Amino acid sequence: MTGLTDLGVAAIRDGVAKGTFTAVEVAAAFNVNVAAASALNAFIVTTPELAVEAAKATDARRAAGQPLGKLGGVPIGMKDLFATKGVQTTAASHILEGFVPEYESTVSQNLWDAGAGMLGKLNLDQFAMGSSNETSYFGNVISPWRRSDGGNAALAPGGSSGGSSTAVAARLAPAATGTDTGGSIRQPAAFTGISGIKPTYGRCSRWGIVAFASSLDQAGPMARDVRDCAIMLEAMAGFDPKDATSLDLLVPAWEAGLSGDLTGKKVGVPAEYRIDGMDADVAASWDQGIAWLKDAGAEIVEISLPHTKYALPAYYIIAPAEASSNLARYDGVRYGLRDLPDGAGLQDMYAATRAAGFGAEVKRRILIGTYVLSAGFYDAYYTQAQKVRTLIAQDFKNAFTLCDVILAPTAPTAAFGLGEKSDDPLAMYLNDVFAVPASLAGLPAMSVPAGLNREGLPLGLQIIGRAFDEQGVLNAGLAIESRAQFSARPERWW
Ligand code: GLN
Repeated sequence: MTGLTDLGVAAIRDGVAKGTFTAVEVAAAFNVNVAAASALNAFIVTTPELAVEAAKATDARRAAGQPLGKLGGVPIGMKDLFATKGVQTTAASHILEGFVPEYESTVSQNLWDAGAGMLGKLNLDQFAMGSSNETSYFGNVISPWRRSDGGNAALAPGGSSGGSSTAVAARLAPAATGTDTGGSIRQPAAFTGISGIKPTYGRCSRWGIVAFASSLDQAGPMARDVRDCAIMLEAMAGFDPKDATSLDLLVPAWEAGLSGDLTGKKVGVPAEYRIDGMDADVAASWDQGIAWLKDAGAEIVEISLPHTKYALPAYYIIAPAEASSNLARYDGVRYGLRDLPDGAGLQDMYAATRAAGFGAEVKRRILIGTYVLSAGFYDAYYTQAQKVRTLIAQDFKNAFTLCDVILAPTAPTAAFGLGEKSDDPLAMYLNDVFAVPASLAGLPAMSVPAGLNREGLPLGLQIIGRAFDEQGVLNAGLAIESRAQFSARPERWW
């Protein structure tokens, strides 16, 4: 018999509703897997009791004949960037260690209201800054995947949502929340052979999510397949008056609207994403994706996104600029850590707290951000980057007069080894080259597993859609999913 932890969101929801198994049985099964996987370091805090508590509530509602909600009986992992009332929320930083919020983020509250329960808070790159989950104060997350050549090198699960990707890929949770500022849902999903969607900027409320770069940050789901992502996103999204950038739009019935038939649709293939020296397996998987979408009925069109090469430098100005201002609030007074040397004054406390509390990557971003926002350099860097951002958004608008969705690789390579890039920030940033343009333009974008490379590691394909057209993105994802038939999973070694 397939174990309960092999089931995804839809199967759990339906099985609980039918009475095939109880929500408490499901929560207990995932709690066992979580407890047995400490070698992966996917969780910062586990909350098995909360998962069981929510499950009991679902089972009680079922016994009373009450509706169970979109996620009735589904236990999930919560990226530790979402404030959870009464449960430590750290953003994987030392500066927030011990911070227990008095409030619940809107997205997590929406999930609990839909019947989900929390298995724990998932590890991530510190303040969501990174692409490999190596900047966490609480240690690296180890990908459950290993190269097929027999080497046992520990691989990066992607970042910043590396705890989320690992938990889903290793069957510690059927789904998890992620956040994506410049690829942090899509790249870790690609590295671990799962699906993840970043919706249109504003679909999910940012209220109660630890801010990194506010004009880019967007929450979204990570799960094993497209349907599960659609179900999760329906529960997470929605207008929130507490977030001034929240979209005042109804949440479409994405799950009900799923269709892998792309007849009449046009898929754009951007010439500029075919970068020099592109990894041969990534290029081949992209070509395979094009063939699959053709097979699904779509017409393939060549498109041009001419400002693509400026996206990465623009992102690495805008994101640090916003981060330097958002992170000014961690001063030793209001949250978490306070380092107050003997006889020290206020300024000394700020300096000591921030020096001790932030990791190296976070400090690097604060320094870059403060520099590009400084009076003498603002126009040369920040204003220029904002202009580039506008041009990139315009590139996509032009492209979407010719096509309905865009197909590209999610990342330039499969997962790399832990430590391989951690001393070289530029090499690390290059990982985000295919992910950041959609972030700068605020567009919905998804990664779905497309196959394995020659080392037996997953590769993802990315679908980018028009603003508000999550349905188009999900449907193209479904068309790929049903042809890729991706069933590989990491062999259990932990
Ligand atoms: N890897 C990118 C960065 O380090 C994106 C991170 C994210 O999306 N949170 O900024």
